[in-house]
Amino acid sequence: MSPLLEVENLRITFPSSGATSRPVDGVSFSLSKGELLAVVGESGCGKSLTALALLRLVPPPGQILPGSVIRLEGTDVLALGAAELRSIRGRRVGMIFQDPMTSLNPVFTVADQISESVRAHQQVSKRAARARALELLQEVGIPDPVERLDNYPHQLSGGMRQRVMIAIALASEPELLVADEPTTALDVTVQAQILELLDRLRAARGMAVLLITHDLGIVAGRADRVAVMYAGRLVEEATTAALFARPSHPYTKGLLASVPRITGTVTRLTPIAGTVPPPTAWPSGCRFHPRCPDALPRCATDDPPALPVGEQHRMRCWLAEAGQR
Ligand code: SF4
Repeated sequence: MSPLLEVENLRITFPSSGATSRPVDGVSFSLSKGELLAVVGESGCGKSLTALALLRLVPPPGQILPGSVIRLEGTDVLALGAAELRSIRGRRVGMIFQDPMTSLNPVFTVADQISESVRAHQQVSKRAARARALELLQEVGIPDPVERLDNYPHQLSGGMRQRVMIAIALASEPELLVADEPTTALDVTVQAQILELLDRLRAARGMAVLLITHDLGIVAGRADRVAVMYAGRLVEEATTAALFARPSHPYTKGLLASVPRITGTVTRLTPIAGTVPPPTAWPSGCRFHPRCPDALPRCATDDPPALPVGEQHRMRCWLAEAGQR
């Protein structure tokens, strides 16, 4: 079966005085129908720009460089005209963001905003769109959905606002939902509820989900596969089970060591030393080498390719070649 989404050698550049800024630099991955892929990395690694690029929403003056490939069920997204692109944005691909308050319009009611999305994709009356809005609120588990229809965004909690955003995204029956840090602004209990909702919706609808997050801790038990991103590149990709059982890239190991665990013995959390470098100054060789506790002499000069470390498991690290993971 061909994948729903294929991304090959995605590169994004921003003009920068005196230096080349390449915040996304050769990212490749694919996503099948009904699959949940999590892209995980620290702030500044390029994961959100990667998500925006899927719908050609990279903010100017950023540009997707020639040679990049994004295909949705075989359609070349980067070659589409404006009208064809509109038929993909918000229709075949829905998107939700970290802060629903900035995505929702404060002067329109919940019913107005969901109905608008319904009517943008289906030719139905206002009454039918409002009825569909109510069904969607029920589907995303909003308490008192009839009452909520006539609420304004400021009358809702953060968790309810995110559920409304999900309802708006679902109005077009998308095949793919891109969720960029959908729970970061929420408290832990509400985070879990929203993640459970996304999981339930993808199972019920057969919808693929691309989950962008800085938090490896929320991925376990939910994602089918995980891609770990660092300095504009994917550095490790595996099934979620394999990644947690056998994390191989030193950066992934560092991320896992900095995630609190609720089971097992209590150990001190170990942060990764240093910070993500700016995209105008990606280090030579392996981009993680200035922070890597396992760096070899060649790591400062030689850029490792993606190397296999198991079935459906690969990483960009020379340790894979040396068999030292
Ligand atoms: S290639 Fe070298 S520096 Fe990079 S992660 Fe592997 S061991 Fe560390």
